[in-house]
Amino acid sequence: MKNVYAEVITIGDEILYGQTLDTNTHWMGQRLNEMGIKILRKVAIGDAREEILSALDEASGRADIILMTGGLGPTKDDITKYTLAEYFGMPLKRNEQALAHIKALFASRGRNITPTNERQADLPEGCTMVHNRMGTAAAMWFERSGKIYVSMPGVPYEMKTIMDEEVLPRVKEKFSLPVIFHQMIQTVGIGESWLSDKIADWEDNLPAHIRLAYLPSLGCVKLRLTALGEDLTTLKKQVMEEVDKVMPLIDEYVFALGNVSLEEAIGNMLKAQQKTLALAESCSGGYVAHSLTSLAGSSAYFQGAVVPYHNQLKEEVLGVSYDTLLKNGAVSEETVIEMAKNIRKLMHSDFGLASSGIAGPGGGTEDKPVGTIWIAVANDKEVKTQKLQLTKDRMLNINLTKVALLNLLRKQL
Ligand code: AMP
Ligand code: MG
Repeated sequence: MKNVYAEVITIGDEILYGQTLDTNTHWMGQRLNEMGIKILRKVAIGDAREEILSALDEASGRADIILMTGGLGPTKDDITKYTLAEYFGMPLKRNEQALAHIKALFASRGRNITPTNERQADLPEGCTMVHNRMGTAAAMWFERSGKIYVSMPGVPYEMKTIMDEEVLPRVKEKFSLPVIFHQMIQTVGIGESWLSDKIADWEDNLPAHIRLAYLPSLGCVKLRLTALGEDLTTLKKQVMEEVDKVMPLIDEYVFALGNVSLEEAIGNMLKAQQKTLALAESCSGGYVAHSLTSLAGSSAYFQGAVVPYHNQLKEEVLGVSYDTLLKNGAVSEETVIEMAKNIRKLMHSDFGLASSGIAGPGGGTEDKPVGTIWIAVANDKEVKTQKLQLTKDRMLNINLTKVALLNLLRKQL
């Protein structure tokens, strides 16, 4: 099967100067990759005629599909459409269908249309207008020498709708793409190099048409298996056979198969076991509670949370004993044990989770440097604790505490 190559060109001064983060190519890259299209390059350029022309020339020499976003607004700084008209030698002509759509959009918002808005309906004569359901700037589809060129607006939700509803379905018709199957294995609590050592032999023996990627994020590593071939059922079977082979090697770190976050996986386990949890979050400041309650349906297992930042509140609200605090300090195993046990009782939950530590960047001491964090998970029988020695970065520490605390709970589930 012949590979299909794509190149993405983002057009906009704001992207170059760091005023707007280029999220478009990030998203497009994922979509194209999922479809088995090989992305050769992503190029970012300003709203400049020569740059657009040369980027098009260069991309034409490499790719079958050239996707552009940006520069289609009604204002003078946006010149993509005019430059495309020049590049393809197609004069602009008012497109009545595009005009009707713009008029309807303005009418629905109760606004008057101006000549500037009307000019958005002028399209290079001979291109195919691609409907933009979400906005006024039509996308444009060009074909030349077997290659396709699509220009889309930069506004992310407009671009995504156009890609999903108009562009990708046509691309699927036009090119014979490989059948592709992805399977994620989600791990937590092991770094990617240790993980890769554990599965080295298995990885070396993967069939040639199945590739493995390591996708690390904070505290977690996703393993993505991608199989390319002709028949989906066969690919699925082959990939799942490989998953069965690797699982015994990494069992204790795997929290889910598929596109599931750690929070979702924990939520699913709690729901399945009809268990609830409560949190006493000191150094994580409610971040774990926020992450869990951001999920729909979390009320089934989330009882409540307390953020007892001040030591007095650790005593008064959570009933941590004065002696414990005095003898061991707030950042100690003894304190998080009492916090976890007591929040569990206070909130009538099956599990009590607690964190206490020095998130930084200040506040460290010699025996408790910045990044020293204690966590605990209590159930009706026991309390499991863990000491974390993290970084000097406050947000990073909060994030890593969340992952570690959820992972400690996972091991009890
Ligand atoms: P434009 O089509 O150039 O008028 O873009 C409209 C708006 O979309 C810009 O003002 C940006 O806020 C946004 N935008 C443009 N390009 C991108 C991109 N690559 N990623 C995310 N947002 C973008
Ligand atoms: Mg722009």
